[in-house]
Amino acid sequence: MNLPRIGRTAEDLLAELARLTEHDLPVRGGQVTSYVYDTGRPEVHDAAARAYAAMLEVNCLDPTAFPSIVEMEKQVVGAVADLLGGGHGIFTSGGTESIMLAVKAARDAASRPRPNLVLPVTAHPAFHKAAHYLGAEVRPVPVDLGTFKADVRAVSAAMDEDTVLVVASAPSYPQGVIDPVGEIAAIAAEAGVFCHVDACVGGWLLPWLREAGADVPPFDLSVPGVTSISCDLHKFGYAPKGASVVLFADPAMRRRAYFASAAWPGYTIINATVQSSRSAGPLGGAWATLQALGREGYVELGRATLEAADRLRAGLAGIGGLRVLGSGSTLVAFTSDDADVFVLADEARARGWFLQPQLSYAGIPANLHITVTGVTLAGVDAMLKVIAESAEAARRLGPPVVPDGLVELITGLDLDALDDATFSELAASVGVDLRPGSGQPRMAVVNAVLDALPAELREAILVRFLSVIYS
Ligand SMILES: *Cc1c(COP(=O)(O)O)cnc(C)c1O
Repeated sequence: MNLPRIGRTAEDLLAELARLTEHDLPVRGGQVTSYVYDTGRPEVHDAAARAYAAMLEVNCLDPTAFPSIVEMEKQVVGAVADLLGGGHGIFTSGGTESIMLAVKAARDAASRPRPNLVLPVTAHPAFHKAAHYLGAEVRPVPVDLGTFKADVRAVSAAMDEDTVLVVASAPSYPQGVIDPVGEIAAIAAEAGVFCHVDACVGGWLLPWLREAGADVPPFDLSVPGVTSISCDLHKFGYAPKGASVVLFADPAMRRRAYFASAAWPGYTIINATVQSSRSAGPLGGAWATLQALGREGYVELGRATLEAADRLRAGLAGIGGLRVLGSGSTLVAFTSDDADVFVLADEARARGWFLQPQLSYAGIPANLHITVTGVTLAGVDAMLKVIAESAEAARRLGPPVVPDGLVELITGLDLDALDDATFSELAASVGVDLRPGSGQPRMAVVNAVLDALPAELREAILVRFLSVIYS
């Protein structure tokens, strides 16, 4: 930005924002099947936006200065606790922060010299991130390759006396299946180890699906042995981003998540979250969304998502060559035996629909992920038609052409010896344009290359990619 010499008007700025976001994926309408959660009810999102704006400048840094945040947080956390078996909670900025706090509390309470976390390979990378930040080791355990649920015996075998936390997902994101929470929590309890249920995506969804008639096994703090649970309100709570809750069964564990410091000559620091200065906007947005929808609103959305997911799964099974992975709830993943899924995703994108690619991992094939939300039902037939056409096109086109020797070349690269400009040139030489404004590239080649690399190398390349696009 050329910082303007004199200030610009709001109209002028908003007009420019409209131009800047022109090439973004649309956040409403249901044609983007991940990242965004749309109720299909604009008045709900409008109420949230207004409450968000009303609280925008309030700072959660000091609850004594702004008592409104204490009251609102107690109400929001209380609503989540009512739904998920009680507990003592913290309002956080998202699933990652909720998980970070749960891991911190477990690490500090267990106090082991070399703490480790035992988690299914389908658990969210937020646990790897928390372990990385907090100095813990991750012990991944396999899932059943038919059901995609955590292998309980493998969980048990991976635990030792330095295990501070065992994880189960309800559901896991990739295939949307609920791990055997009761069995995993029982093993953890027997060993005296904390057990976190990652219900980031399902916490504010599964109870409503259950009320709408779905068969949902117990998964929350009411299950013996479960010591903490995370629930993102900015997913199926349909609140604006920056809204999640972590609940601890034991109030002493919540205190382990807190941080205070008086070790400087400035104001005293008391933080419930990783962030210190923090807008109350997301809290206001979540508070408003929960009440703008109400119980009936959520049950109705639950019903609509269930019906949409059923129709989607049945429709996908009816498209030749496609295969749904697992019998998950309202997160639907599918692969194909005769069409390249990355090409399929590009074809769908060219037709105005975004399907989220997931790379092959731990024996699970590359696939595409659809998060079914409230708005999906209205467009489910259109979505299926696009998927069928895209699958047909992908079959015709065949797999993406990865330049000969490219994967070997990358595998042999000393990435640390390359600066961003050289990396960018290298990418361009194989047909991948990373320059800003180069439009929405067909991603199949990139995904195919990543898919052929081991996870550590994928990570190194992804970090490089981020660095290049911001340079
Ligand atoms: C989304 C998600 C997370 C991480 O949440 P963020 O809000 O993106 O930080 C963790 N676990 C599961 C199962 C999720 O779906």
